[in-house]
Amino acid sequence: MSHPPSVDRLARSQRASGLPHPLLVEEARRAIEADDVDHFADRVAQRKRSMLVSVINGTGVLLHTNLGRAPLAASFDETYSNLELSLESGKRGSRQAAVGSSIAAAIGAESAMVVNNGASAVLLVLAALAAGSGPAGNGVAVSRGEMVEIGGGFRVPDVMAQSGARLVEVGTTNRTRLSDFQQAVESGDASLVMSIHQSNYKIVGFTESTSMAELATLEVPVVADIGSGLLDSATPWLEGAPPSWLADEPAARQTLEQGANLVIFSGDKLFGSAQAGIIAGDEALVAQCRQHPLARAVRPGSLVLQAIQKTTMSYLERKGNDIAFWRMATLSEASLRERAAAYPEQLEIITTQAVPGGGTLPQVTIPSIGLRLAGDHLDALRANEPPIIARVEDNATIVDLRTIAPEHDTIVAAALRALLDA
Ligand SMILES: *Cc1c(COP(=O)(O)O)cnc(C)c1O
Repeated sequence: MSHPPSVDRLARSQRASGLPHPLLVEEARRAIEADDVDHFADRVAQRKRSMLVSVINGTGVLLHTNLGRAPLAASFDETYSNLELSLESGKRGSRQAAVGSSIAAAIGAESAMVVNNGASAVLLVLAALAAGSGPAGNGVAVSRGEMVEIGGGFRVPDVMAQSGARLVEVGTTNRTRLSDFQQAVESGDASLVMSIHQSNYKIVGFTESTSMAELATLEVPVVADIGSGLLDSATPWLEGAPPSWLADEPAARQTLEQGANLVIFSGDKLFGSAQAGIIAGDEALVAQCRQHPLARAVRPGSLVLQAIQKTTMSYLERKGNDIAFWRMATLSEASLRERAAAYPEQLEIITTQAVPGGGTLPQVTIPSIGLRLAGDHLDALRANEPPIIARVEDNATIVDLRTIAPEHDTIVAAALRALLDA
């Protein structure tokens, strides 16, 4: 009978993998335990591929939930920042002040603040604004047509329960009128109204919903969770007219203009930045959120705030091309065709439909250009370094060029050439 191999020796045999020794030891133990020492190298490779790395998105889904939604620059200098120091007075400052006022300026709000993500923004707003005492105390009126699940387990009624707010359902699934809200407010049952954008679904047919302008006539604050983070429907950061696929998308600036007291949106959807949640609108309401104890639990760190600040500056300078999401979303088909022509000529150049994704803009497609190769090559492309994520349709692999940075074309072309040559 042969001795079991030494854990340490086995671990060291894969030192070239670059994985830290403690992780190699863990994998070695597992391989020995599973009597699978022969496949140790594969196990190590698999472990390595479970780490977070940069990937090339060839899916044509611009905000791919599995790929971190908006593309993000991830390199920051290893330095201190004036996160909570006022350089003016030398005293303690607020991490929210500077970024918040820049975002507010970009959408014409009095005030704004940043939290961890959209879900925590909803939680904080409800906890801070719907917790009052009295009979209407914590009642929040929401249309039955907006009792939604956004994805990843974010269900409006559950979040509401967690916040301590009491859900006051009004109207019906397909039709809700101003009078439904009026009843809830005037009877003293609700002290806040919340409208939630139908980000990822559509109710069609015999429908009626209440406009923001109508809701704004109510005597309680109105909060709009617009979800996607489109800042302004006029898209002043883009050259030319707003893209037609944005037509039905609510925008932060216009929602406030129509009378919402607060808007809530995500940082990594159409805003095109890091994972964050943004709360913007009336100064007094934002201050109430800032001062609530939960604000501390959902506050963002300096990496996120730097990313959000950088993106906000691009909006204020009207430089949409500095935001990867908008750059990719608005590339012309002609420029995509030009790039496709530089790929190996055995690949078929096809027209495709890219999508915004990220639980935004259901049914919207953006014409795009892709490369098609017979057979399912998803595994091989994922094993590439860097990994390339493609999709399969009718037993052919399709790589969509809209979501691939032009500087990655040579990498993708080389990987596809290798498949052609195989
Ligand atoms: C996406 C979305 C959320 C959740 O935001 P996260 O940033 O993903 O936490 C909440 N409400 C709406 C309407 C959304 O579209």
